[in-house]
Amino acid sequence: MGEWLEATVTEKIRWNDGLFSLRFEAPLPDFKAGQFVRVGLDIEGERLARPYSLVNAPGETPHEILFNIVPEGPLSPRLARLEAGGALFVHSSVTGTMTMERTPGHRHLWLFSTGTALGPFLSMLKTDGPWQRADRIVLCHSVRRAADQVYDTVIRELLERHGKRLTFVPLVTREVVAGALHARITSALEAGDIERIAGMALRPEDAHVMLCGNSDMIESVQQWLAGRGLRRHRRREPGDVTIEKYH
Ligand SMILES: Cc1cc2nc3c(=O)[nH]c(=O)nc-3n(C[C@H](O)[C@H](O)[C@H](O)COP(=O)(O)OP(=O)(O)OC[C@H]3O[C@@H](n4cnc5c(N)ncnc54)[C@H](O)[C@@H]3O)c2cc1C
Repeated sequence: MGEWLEATVTEKIRWNDGLFSLRFEAPLPDFKAGQFVRVGLDIEGERLARPYSLVNAPGETPHEILFNIVPEGPLSPRLARLEAGGALFVHSSVTGTMTMERTPGHRHLWLFSTGTALGPFLSMLKTDGPWQRADRIVLCHSVRRAADQVYDTVIRELLERHGKRLTFVPLVTREVVAGALHARITSALEAGDIERIAGMALRPEDAHVMLCGNSDMIESVQQWLAGRGLRRHRRREPGDVTIEKYH
């Protein structure tokens, strides 16, 4: 269901050689923070589309996606070549279950992201939803290099607005960067570093966890969480862990 909508790029942010945000105008319907939209280009007469999470909050315009170039991928290198004024297509059915509305309320919300999967969490954190449901929120963002650390202004604004209720834990795996953990998320959990920085334990009594990004991180963190007694959340079988795999 739904239809393809024409969209116009209003701005391209080039974070580094392989990492971009595209802002675009399109008559998308209302959506929930954390959801994704199919973005497409016509290539050799065929529409090629992939899902991308919206970084903007509901009601905020222009719309925005964050993506990296997958060199062998058919769509992402072409998206990266778009400039302001360029045309793309977005599908009107914005969807996805990694939303506050689908998540049981808990005192502590733990958000773990790799790379471009920071985007949907920023969309959520800009809304009131998570702050009405949780006392404390821990946002972890793991990247390979310092140059992949994006949206620092948005994160700083969130930290200023929410004070001690928000803890941001940056992780950089392939470089030593001041202020960031030099470890993968799972290793940092195993070492107790993330709980130490957050100043609280991650436990099923008061936590809900969202995992977004690459499958390796999601699977290994899920395993670690299972050891702590946290189980996957499903609509028919409520649990503690919501996941969204990008690749
Ligand atoms: C629900 C959902 C939401 C998504 N949201 C985003 C988003 O907000 N931002 C974003 O950058 N991507 C996102 N993706 C991935 C995105 O849809 C594309 O797969 C990606 O941009 C590559 O597109 P492509 O056509 O160039 O290559 P594809 O043909 O899609 O993929 C080529 C290969 O690269 C792998 N791959 C896919 N994405 C990545 C990646 N980011 N890094 C390394 N390898 C990758 C695939 O598994 C595949 O093996 C999302 C995927 C899903 C399922």
